[in-house]
Amino acid sequence: MNNNQNSKGITILGSTGTIGVNTLDVIARQSEHYHLIALTANSNVDKMLQQCLQHHPQYVVMVKEQAAEQLSIALKNQAPDIEVLSGSQALETVVELTQVDYVMAAIVGAAGLLPNLAAAKAGKRVLLANKESLVMSGKLFMNTVSENNATLLPIDSEHNAIFQCLPASGLQGVTQILLTASGGPFRTRAIDTLHDITPEQAVAHPNWVMGQKISVDSATMMNKGLEVIEACWLFQLTTEQIQVVIHPQSTIHSMVAYNDGSVLAQLGNPDMRTPIAYGLGWPMRIESGVAPLDLFEIAQLNFEQADYNRFPCLRLAYEAHQAGGYATIALNAANEIAVEAFLNRQLRFTDIPALIEYALEQTTSGTPETLNEILIQDSESRRQANLWWHENK
Ligand code: NAD
Ligand code: MG
Repeated sequence: MNNNQNSKGITILGSTGTIGVNTLDVIARQSEHYHLIALTANSNVDKMLQQCLQHHPQYVVMVKEQAAEQLSIALKNQAPDIEVLSGSQALETVVELTQVDYVMAAIVGAAGLLPNLAAAKAGKRVLLANKESLVMSGKLFMNTVSENNATLLPIDSEHNAIFQCLPASGLQGVTQILLTASGGPFRTRAIDTLHDITPEQAVAHPNWVMGQKISVDSATMMNKGLEVIEACWLFQLTTEQIQVVIHPQSTIHSMVAYNDGSVLAQLGNPDMRTPIAYGLGWPMRIESGVAPLDLFEIAQLNFEQADYNRFPCLRLAYEAHQAGGYATIALNAANEIAVEAFLNRQLRFTDIPALIEYALEQTTSGTPETLNEILIQDSESRRQANLWWHENK
């Protein structure tokens, strides 16, 4: 604990994940400005124990009860002052605490929705890495942020770049958002061999080190599809205003085009500590530990169109957002089921979009107004996706 009166209290949702670990790294570099209130994880006891001993939060949540019990026993002698909670409800408890100023929303998938909404409802600064929650509940989420005077800052590198390149006064003069994508590991692989792809090949991203789910999403380019939807909600844009640009070097993290011909870009090494530091420090800049960009080493910046034949998930995401909120919930739910089945070697890589397309066909247009409607659509789409998978595996 530090003695700085202005030090910000932080809860990290998903601290054992890639974003969580990078967030802890940035915070440890500025320990006089930030202090940890809570760390949370699903079940990784070893990693959480190590984080607790190194970073000393006041609370820790393990969603899985058995994991919480194991962690309590391990902490008893080494750090008995850390309070261990369990269950998904506890995620909401540790974001709502009055001593929490900032919440890093870095749980993967739909499991992040309720705690992220709780953070927005409690008026916190929400550092949003978990794009799935916005894809599921964009309208409700943005309303919750504004009704409760919360501050929503994008951590996804592309959205963080866009945020850095937009004028402070909204969208004045903006004509287009150029959302960059690396193209993932299969950008140039022969299309007729995509069905043979293994989980190991899919998670081996050329530029970024990330969790398994987002790595598969990057390989199918569903990640970019989810990001198109995320950008629409964050910046109040239509899908027509967003152009996906494949940029294999991942040096430009996105761009904003203006009506006078200017295009502003944010560049940097592909290291999530840059957008994390920007979100933590905003409106100031703080050190992140990221190496300076060496343009001479990079030497070239290339750009390509995205091919919907190679990446049908990208097309499905555009179509889903145009159809409305029910469809984007179905898109996300079916994708989560498909990616998990693929990682378990129970679904072919090329069946991921087929399964999602089926779930979308079962869904009505329009947008849900309430959380209950969102959750019902989510579980209905999961049921349909599972059905398709059992019939086609
Ligand atoms: P990860 O798989 O490395 O970590 C996920 C974290 O969520 C872990 O701490 C895990 O314990 C926790 N978690 C998993 N299931 C949970 C559940 N049911 N309940 C509560 N907690 C649960 O994932 P990641 O790569 O750090 O990504 C996290 C989020 O950030 C994702 O939404 C991803 O799309 C987004 N994101 C990640 C990156 C990146 O570079 N890794 C970049 C941009 C956005
Ligand atoms: Mg991204």
